[in-house]
Amino acid sequence: IRSFATETGAADQNEKEEKIIGESKKKAFQAETRKLLDIVTHSLYSEKEVFVRELVSNASDALEKLRHSQLTDSSLDTGKPLEIHISVDEAKGTFTIQDYGIGMTEDEAISNLGTIARSGSKAFLEGLKEDGTTGSTKDRIIGQFGVGFYSAFMVGSEIKVYTRSSKPESKGYCWTSDGSGSYEIAEAENVAVGTKIVITLRDECKEYAKEAVVETIIKKYSNFVDYPVLLNNKKI
Ligand code: ADP
Ligand code: MG
Repeated sequence: IRSFATETGAADQNEKEEKIIGESKKKAFQAETRKLLDIVTHSLYSEKEVFVRELVSNASDALEKLRHSQLTDSSLDTGKPLEIHISVDEAKGTFTIQDYGIGMTEDEAISNLGTIARSGSKAFLEGLKEDGTTGSTKDRIIGQFGVGFYSAFMVGSEIKVYTRSSKPESKGYCWTSDGSGSYEIAEAENVAVGTKIVITLRDECKEYAKEAVVETIIKKYSNFVDYPVLLNNKKI
């Protein structure tokens, strides 16, 4: 059963702001990840908007995983709609995407966001070995394989990931990185079950904080998404 937002679509309107409460642990990215991030953050790839597709696809995967687990385990009912909420703030220069999906434990956040598991990213690095490292080669590979979560660093100077696993009794965490060698992770309060990613956009990427621009991009991809996508609380 899928639930949809209320008329306003404001499923998260009354939530308190997340706050770091634990000690922040600084960790280095795995060497392969550092290499990939270095390329992604310095990329001149012109179709940076693919980061929206990648993050929506991850949110959709997370909702699907939760829905699947809920079929056999009723304790996983989060009381939240299976939806993807995107919000943009031009004044702050931020792009935020939130899902009420499966979420991540601390260990999962560390291994899923700090190391490269996905086949696309591995293929990306393999492709670099074969073809040398000219700019157009990198761009072609970014476009062809996608770089998943890390594509957020094409447009963001800082990425914050608030996540809480849907497993009962899980704590919330805040993962932060500027895409250079390391990231920080700390326990946080007021984190909803699921994952919320806040991207502080680079100066040259501020267009992705514009509602009309983002709406057009979402419409390109949302046909392929099985869950409702809302932009600034309006269903797309
Ligand atoms: P892929 O989607 O191909 O696995 P990504 O780089 O896009 O690779 O994402 C890496 C991993 O990070 C995912 O496999 C998943 O475990 C985790 N992840 C990313 N986004 C989310 C999310 N919104 N909710 C839960 N887990 C996520
Ligand atoms: Mg992905």
